[in-house]
Amino acid sequence: METKISTDQELIDCFIPMKENRGIKPEPIQVWVSDVHIGGREVIIIAGPCAVESMEQLVETAVSVKKSNAKILRGGAFKPRSSPYSFQGLGEEGLKMLHEVSIKTGLPVVTEVMDTRQIEIVCRYADMLQIGSRNMQNYPLLKEVGKTNKPVLLKRGMMATIEEFLMAAEYILSQGNKQVVLCERGIRTFETSTRNTLDLSAVPMLKRLSHLPVIVDPSHGTGLSWMVPSMAKAAVAAGADGLIMEVHYKPEEALCDGQQSLGLHEFTQLMKDLKRVAQAVGRDV
Ligand code: PEP
Ligand code: MN
Repeated sequence: METKISTDQELIDCFIPMKENRGIKPEPIQVWVSDVHIGGREVIIIAGPCAVESMEQLVETAVSVKKSNAKILRGGAFKPRSSPYSFQGLGEEGLKMLHEVSIKTGLPVVTEVMDTRQIEIVCRYADMLQIGSRNMQNYPLLKEVGKTNKPVLLKRGMMATIEEFLMAAEYILSQGNKQVVLCERGIRTFETSTRNTLDLSAVPMLKRLSHLPVIVDPSHGTGLSWMVPSMAKAAVAAGADGLIMEVHYKPEEALCDGQQSLGLHEFTQLMKDLKRVAQAVGRDV
């Protein structure tokens, strides 16, 4: 006989088999990144370059996105590139730049950690640890970041189901770190006109199944800067608690992901439009 699902907890229990969802609870939580909280009424905008390239690039971009009301600065120092011959990031030098710009602007920073051996050094300079799509199922890495006291931005694996995504979050939560934000960043489908297929239906589903804040990355989700504003607005309308977007002071000169990066003026305009969308759904930017 089928059991009727009446509560969200029952839905979670039936969705995730074997009652392994010990860390996932129905009550929503907020995640604190320095003095910014994700998961409240305000939709939190994270912006910055794909990769930290130079002090000039980082400062110019950070000052501008802050002026447009971004709350957290992004920038990769360790970059997971498809080709080993592509720019791999500035490593510790990049982390130091992020930290310096964070202090100068007052924006907390999120940056990717790709390997357990990098955790200590990334924790020294960053306010939030990003686990990239390619590492969503790197279980030793998930467990180790679960032992830190830094909030974690967990990106959905490009071929991960919702259940696998939630189980990856569970790896972090199970180690004691409860400060996890889920990020939908597009999945691989048969469609090739966009870099990935941004699965916005993941937003209401994840918010229903878990208590964790959910944000969206329309930059990697589409791979096309001209499409980013449309999908960013759609993500906010769908209930996202935040957005992470690539912004570059000179997108055409970017060493990484320039084709999907917004220029400074485009970002400023988008922030104005997002404010109106957020207000229409009872939120703020
Ligand atoms: C990034 O945010 O720069 C990145 C590499 O994203 P993803 O892991 O989603 O591809
Ligand atoms: Mn990128």
